[in-house]
Amino acid sequence: VTSEDLTTQSLDKIKANKESLNTFITVNDKADQDAKKVDKTGINGPLAGIPIAIKDNIVSKGIKTTAASKILYNFMPVYSATVLEKLENAGAIDIGKTNLDEFAMGSSTETSYFGTSVNAWDHTRVPGGSSGGSAAAVAAGEVIAALGTDTGGSIRQPSAFNGIFGIKPTYGRVSRWGVIAFASSLDQVGVMSKRVEDSAAVLSVIAGHDDHDSTSSTKEVPDYRANLNKDMHGVKIAVPKEFWHEGTHPEVLENVNKALDAYKEMGATVEEVSLPSLKHAVEVYYVLASSEASSNLQRYDGVRYGFRAKDVKNIKELFVKSRSEGFGDEVKRRIMLGTFALSAGAYDAYFKKAAQVRTIFINEMNNVLKDYDLIMGPSTTTPAFKIGEKVDDPLAMYMNDILTIPANLAGLPAASVPAGLADGMPVGLQIIGRSFDEQSVFNAAYALQ
Ligand code: GLN
Repeated sequence: VTSEDLTTQSLDKIKANKESLNTFITVNDKADQDAKKVDKTGINGPLAGIPIAIKDNIVSKGIKTTAASKILYNFMPVYSATVLEKLENAGAIDIGKTNLDEFAMGSSTETSYFGTSVNAWDHTRVPGGSSGGSAAAVAAGEVIAALGTDTGGSIRQPSAFNGIFGIKPTYGRVSRWGVIAFASSLDQVGVMSKRVEDSAAVLSVIAGHDDHDSTSSTKEVPDYRANLNKDMHGVKIAVPKEFWHEGTHPEVLENVNKALDAYKEMGATVEEVSLPSLKHAVEVYYVLASSEASSNLQRYDGVRYGFRAKDVKNIKELFVKSRSEGFGDEVKRRIMLGTFALSAGAYDAYFKKAAQVRTIFINEMNNVLKDYDLIMGPSTTTPAFKIGEKVDDPLAMYMNDILTIPANLAGLPAASVPAGLADGMPVGLQIIGRSFDEQSVFNAAYALQ
């Protein structure tokens, strides 16, 4: 097959599903020309000619990038994120920009200014979020792989909900240059695909140090795909008892236990451990993530980018009106929460306290990983919920992230891999690894695939 064939097929599917799935905000209408170019020049990079979908909070030169917000509804970036440059150099085709929760704040894609995406298995259910468009696009076969971002679960939860593989690498593994910032100490770009091999190939391409991002690691990037290995003999797996959260769907538990039994049969050991501070993880995350968001989102003022309010009398009114009209409710909620947590009177009791508990939690996770190679448990407490079910109940939506937040707080690599069905909907097994040991995470997922 030629890249042009693959790209045309992909574009046709995306178009045919537009009404039903709404996976993309913007399709790259130059994708077929890019594909022709790859065919003609015979670029033989590791991803030569493969169409890849990009979450729409990753900036792409000359292709509209909105973060699913009205405030960026017409934003045309003048440069591309490092991850996109790396994909392009490897021969990949940027097929377009996928839907997400506004500024990646959410767990259902329902806060998108461009309307929700839906679950590829059941259109009455959410695809998860915030990378819901990417997950549904992969699950529906529109693309082989998609980039997502994961601040508190936004790759793993939608991957679990759509029955695909998704990995958030170690914090610092992938450059954040050109990624629209939500919470800079937690954000990380990762990959989603049906097959573990495909994500492994893409992650090797996008990982590595970048002079534009001082938090990106200089550690060498392995060829994850070439090193894939299903041997689980002697692998030590820890299962935190706090991951068996009350309210977890019984079929989720059953399937995760089945997966753990499968690992035992493959020669791994599985033992229960405890992460006592996990009970504070959701509170810690929402204080820290909202604080960082309130700071990062100051730049949207109606002057520099995107949406600008009309009929304003002075500069202050321009700021206030542009932000009031440009941001959706969930984003405003986070800005207010974060501004409060950082304010002089509340800083010690909220931001500082949350930062301290984060450190305690990081130590708990890393202590477990001194004795064990991997931590496992469910990716989510339930399968995909119904559209509209939680959208008016922010606390229920936030609690939904309890199992994915730990890996972000500790900066550890973590994946979700399909593991059976609950209510006829996909279940995800979560695999968390040691810092910079994405390979063991890939290998365990590969062994189960
Ligand atoms: N659901 C979480 C939140 O709303 C995580 C989002 C993400 O990982 N981008 O903050």
